[in-house]
Amino acid sequence: MILLTGGAGYIASHTGVALALAGIPYVVLDNFCNSVPAVLERMHEVGGLKPTLVQGDVRDAATLDALFARYPIQGVVHFAGLKAVGESVAEPALYYENNVSGSVTLIRAMQRAGVKTLVFSSSATVYGNSDASPLPESAPLAPINPYGQSKLMVEYILRDVAAANPDWRVACLRYFNPVGAHISGLLGEDPRGVPGNLMPFIGQVAVGRRPQLSVFGNDYPTPDGTGVRDYIHVMDLADGHLAALRYLQGDLTGRNCLMANLGTGQGISVLQMVQAFEQYTGQKIPFEVAPRRAGDLASYYADPSLANRVLGWKAQRGLKEMCEDSWRWQHRNPMGYAQA
Ligand code: NAD
Ligand code: UDP
Repeated sequence: MILLTGGAGYIASHTGVALALAGIPYVVLDNFCNSVPAVLERMHEVGGLKPTLVQGDVRDAATLDALFARYPIQGVVHFAGLKAVGESVAEPALYYENNVSGSVTLIRAMQRAGVKTLVFSSSATVYGNSDASPLPESAPLAPINPYGQSKLMVEYILRDVAAANPDWRVACLRYFNPVGAHISGLLGEDPRGVPGNLMPFIGQVAVGRRPQLSVFGNDYPTPDGTGVRDYIHVMDLADGHLAALRYLQGDLTGRNCLMANLGTGQGISVLQMVQAFEQYTGQKIPFEVAPRRAGDLASYYADPSLANRVLGWKAQRGLKEMCEDSWRWQHRNPMGYAQA
């Protein structure tokens, strides 16, 4: 049985379904600070396996001790955390408390319970301003905001824990830009308020919730002037977690802490994404060019070859699936889970 902290969130809910379809039961721990309980019913419906829910906070040691005492947890995928870059700049202490202290509390509880396998949701933001794409894991680590700092701090803590405890097995997965939804249209990304990320914004324009997209800058040194990112389908990401868990069960021969990029290796511009969405969904996406967004980089994308080689994992889904699945989710659930 696997524990998914933050299990009702966007990436975790898709990972739960992938676990269920692989016959692996899981427990969801979530405080619903950025998700809703209705997600669990959808996870049940899509995965065919009823998730066990523990409503609580990953920073609460007593909750974790009770959870580990009650369920036969063999491994943990630690998704729980806050992820809004702007908010992290405004409230750094909140981010360090949730993301760093929460991780330490979890690690300590795992130590008490004798659970030694952990997959951590890290992020490409650990690379900061590096302009050396495709980015290998060895690229300089220099996050430029408290959110990215919090992810890197947890990576360092886990590296030290793994070094001190050779029987621990840790994988830090550096996600690039997760997009898309489960093919059923029942699970997807449901941001609160105005979406900060490109793909949910496009989805809300397509479904009529917003009049147009603002393209943040068209004078970057990229082929069409707009920002380039490595978008990865959320179900490919989910499969990456299964691959990491399988890898951690194997013979690691002295290498018990892996840092791995999960991306496609392909850079896509904002305008390419808009065009792909229009092509694959038939929906028009009106847009205007707006000033650059503060803190944005021109271009970054992954070198995913380590994960390809070591985890035996490779992203399978392209722009077509990303756009079609986002749209299916968005138009069947125009207001997200609020309608559930
Ligand atoms: P999400 O907000 O949808 O999911 C996070 C979940 O964790 C939510 O359900 C939230 O309620 C829960 N949570 C937060 N703090 C908690 C706490 N203290 N105790 C218990 N539950 C708590 O976000 P997501 O996009 O699914 O991201 C999951 C993880 O992946 C996060 O750690 C995020 O930083 C990381 N990540 C996300 C992206 C991205 O672009 N979505 C990219 C890189 C890394
Ligand atoms: N972007 C945009 N309009 C939006 C949201 C994002 O033009 O409403 C651009 C943004 O400037 C960047 C790309 O889309 O070049 C991806 O942005 P997102 O916030 O999704 O990911 P991140 O910048 O965190 O990688």
